[in-house]
Amino acid sequence: MVTTFLGCIFAKVTQTKENHMAIIITDECINCGACEPECPNTAIYEGADGWKYADGTDLKGAIVLSNGKTANADEEQAPVSDEIYYIVADKCTECKGFHEEPQCAAVCPVDCCVPDENHIETEEALLAKQRFMHTGGDV
Ligand code: SF4
Ligand code: SF4
Repeated sequence: MVTTFLGCIFAKVTQTKENHMAIIITDECINCGACEPECPNTAIYEGADGWKYADGTDLKGAIVLSNGKTANADEEQAPVSDEIYYIVADKCTECKGFHEEPQCAAVCPVDCCVPDENHIETEEALLAKQRFMHTGGDV
């Protein structure tokens, strides 16, 4: 079965006051590991480690994102960084649906978890992404 999400998640939109962004880790990261266990979406991985859509979510098997991208949720994906902890933008909801503020940014001792201007999304889209990941696609 293919899990398909036909909403508007992952869509880039013109930035307004209502728009939000995924979080990105800058190269100032000191690899302390404090952020990784705090992420409710398991979107944070240690450098050089592979990642999966299925990690920490209800997603499994074939999935289709709203931008048409297809993936196997159980298949290991290549690391985004080999050097420092990294965030998978497709899995980051800015903690929407779980917490009032990004938990990684709240615990990072060097303030290197910052908004990713390349991944601008509305709060509605971030909440839809959270539901998609944690209801097995039944949205
Ligand atoms: Fe995870 Fe929240 Fe940080 Fe995104 S903002 S990477 S969901 S802890
Ligand atoms: Fe890097 Fe900050 Fe995460 Fe520590 S808490 S691993 S410094 S991003």
